Parts: sequence; C-alpha cells; structure tokens
Amino acid sequence: MSDKTLVLRDADYVIQGASIINEKYSVLIKGDRIIDVGPYEKLKADHIIDEERDCTGQAILPGLINTHTHIHETMMRGLGHDFPFHEWCDRLVFPTAKAMEDEGEELYRSLTLITAMEAASSGSTALIEHSVNFAKRHSLTMAHALHEFGLRGAIAKGAEDFSTIDQGHVGKDMAQELGETKVFLDAWKKEKPDDLVQAWVGPSGGKRTVGGCTNEALVELKKMADDYDTRYHLHWAGTSPEIKIVQRDTGYVGSVAMAYNLGILDERTSLAHCIWMAEAEMDMVKETGASISHMPSCNQICAIGVLPLVELLEKGVDVGIGTDGAPQNDSLDMYRDMRQAVLLQRINKMKADAVSHLDAFKMATVTGAKMLGHDDLGTVQPGQLADLTAVKIKGNHFLTPLYEPLETLVYAGSGGRDTVWTMVNGKMVYDNGTFPTIDAEAVVSHVADAAKRIKHHIVF
Ligand SMILES: [Zn+2]
Repeated sequence: MSDKTLVLRDADYVIQGASIINEKYSVLIKGDRIIDVGPYEKLKADHIIDEERDCTGQAILPGLINTHTHIHETMMRGLGHDFPFHEWCDRLVFPTAKAMEDEGEELYRSLTLITAMEAASSGSTALIEHSVNFAKRHSLTMAHALHEFGLRGAIAKGAEDFSTIDQGHVGKDMAQELGETKVFLDAWKKEKPDDLVQAWVGPSGGKRTVGGCTNEALVELKKMADDYDTRYHLHWAGTSPEIKIVQRDTGYVGSVAMAYNLGILDERTSLAHCIWMAEAEMDMVKETGASISHMPSCNQICAIGVLPLVELLEKGVDVGIGTDGAPQNDSLDMYRDMRQAVLLQRINKMKADAVSHLDAFKMATVTGAKMLGHDDLGTVQPGQLADLTAVKIKGNHFLTPLYEPLETLVYAGSGGRDTVWTMVNGKMVYDNGTFPTIDAEAVVSHVADAAKRIKHHIVF
C-alpha cells in the first residue's frame, strides 16, 4: 500500500456526515485511510503532502453503501414489470437464468463488473450482493470480479433446499446446499487477498417464500456463518402471503417472530425487506441487534408493502438502504433510493416530516457501514477508510442554486449524472467517465452481445 499522502484539495463542500458540512475544505489521505480533514493551508502546515488533486467546484461526501442487490438481475433490467409474480418467474427469470448458464462463467464476471461500474459511477463505494437462484453457483466468480474492480462489499451466497416452482436451481437436499456454501466460504478464506470483499452466508429466504430454505437449513446455515465468523443475509418478511402461511403453519405472529425463536437473529444478521411485522416483532429485531435492508423502489415497483421505517427508526433499529436487483428498481443509483425512502414514508404516513433527508443519508452511509461490520466507514473523519465520492457542483445547472448541499443532493441529486469520481480504500475506481481498474469498453460490449443471444429465450 502506498505511503504517499494525497490531498483532495479545496472542495466547495466536504459533507463529513449528516450534520457536519464544511465549506472550502480538503481531505488528506494516506494509503487506505483519511488522516486529516480541514482547510488546505492547515493540512499543508501539519503534514507532508506528496500529491494533490484539485476538487474546486465539487462536494466530497462518504461513498454510499447499497445493502442489497442481485448482480445477475442486471441482465433483466427494464423487463417484466407488469407480470404477476409467477409469470415473472416463468417468462423472464428462469428462461434468462438458464440462457445465462449457457453463456458461462465469463458472463458473471462481466455482469459483476458492469454492476460495479454503475454503482461506482453513481456514487456507491460498497454493495451487498445476494446471489440467489442460479447465480449462487457463481458466487466465487462474483467475489473475484468485485475485488478486481476494487469495490467494497459482500457476496452472500444463496442457498435453497425448498421450492414450489423448482426450475433446477434448488439443491437436491440440505446437505448439498450446506456443502456448497462451505466450499465457497473455504475458497474465499483461502484466496482473498484482504478484507475488501467478504464472503457471507445468504439463504434466499424461508420455506414459505418461493424458492427458499427449510427451518432446519436456516438454522444450520446460521451456525455455519457463526463458525466461519461471518455474516448472514436473507430475504425475510417481504410479502403478506408469507406471513399468513407462517401464522397458519406455526402459530407465530409472523416470520420475524419465527426467526427470533429459531435463533437466527443477531447483530450479524441482516434481513432484506422485513416489511411485514407486528409491533412486538420490531422489538425482537431491536433486541437481537439484527439489521434491515430497506428497498423503497422495490416496495413500490413490486407493490409488496411499505416498510414501517418511522417506527423502526424510533425504536433505534439499524436500517440501511438497498436498490434490490434491476427488475425491482432498474437502477443502482442510491441517490434515487435515498429520495424514495423519504417520500414513501411521507405518503404512507401523510406526514411531511415523517422521515428526513438526514435520516436517509445516515441510512445510506453509517448504517450501511455497520451492516458490513465497519465502524471505520461511512463518514469523512480522520481514521476512517477512504471510501469517498464527489459530485459536480460548479456549473451543474441541475444543482444550481445550491443553498443546502445535502438536502439538495438527496432531493435533486442524480448519481449517474452528478458523480465526478469515486474512490475505495483511497484508490480511484471511477474518474470523470473512466474506470481505471478495468477495460470498461470490453465489459459493456460483452454484456450487450450476450443480451442479443439471451433475448431469444425470454417470453415476451
Ligand atoms: Zn432481493
């Protein structure tokens, strides 16, 4: 790692955190860490500066953290929005997934890279990938590709030992699913060069959802995650039919109460969706320290319900923001989802101050960092990891006038339009339209060519 210092000089604003915004500030980096923040002249007086980068006309902020997505679904962007769920599976998801299998491992590498490109060029520095369905077979390839790009994140390898619509993606039995998860965890433990990309355990959901895990498998997979000292991420309490089946079959008030009693909730468990909860179940999430990935665009596109975010934040539950996969959002732009997280609660509560832009920004930064296991990430402070992004302020008519930078960015910002550069661990992964770590042109061509072949398998 480089011992040289780099100063990101004279930004119009440095948004250090939701409540600390400074004008005409600079950020000093050494290796993968921020070592100081302040006016340029002060930094220059206090430190040896090896390199400088002029950030005049920009606002620097912590990189956004996408706490739930599905890389392989990027292949399905823009399709299937109006299909009922089973039709969506039969006409889009399964034919596409099977055609993708024919394309081979290289497609999963390219899809990971193109997803990382979209994330980085719209201001995200980290993502949690949930590799469900056929994608779970390619978890190791995705871990390598995410690391190659230089984005931070986790690959939560999916597992499914139960399905009512088995199309070949479900393992023969629990032992097979456990075995494949173990192979992935062992492989990444052996191969990973550092902590940038983590290997997690990621059952696709419970038995009551389409394609999920039996309770026995959920418990065994959680034990495995604990044995490997890693985290556990799964779809949970995402639809009301799921809750009705749990109530009917188990007598529990809902899926969260069932998970609580199975012992799979703790501070290293994150639940994607978690929309349908009784009040007592929210307390269970808080008590155990489990966290929630909130996907406000998906809540609306899939019409599956609205997360009780106001209540959860009042109780102090950790809630991060995610985009979910392409068919449930069509974008990985976290600025859009910060805005959606605010607006959805306002119309749901019919209350204009139900959730603020400050809440959304904290969810997308410090809470996301916590969900990745980091307390040294998510703010622009000395000692923190140098995962940063910058937006163009000067000459950007979309953001002019700019009275209050953070409020303006959450409501009027657009990651893909406004982002100038993004760095992870002090290294540029996106810089003024270029991607220094990969051959971006080849990646885009590969995915576009594969789409021409895969298109013939989708039932329009
Ligand atoms: Zn999902």
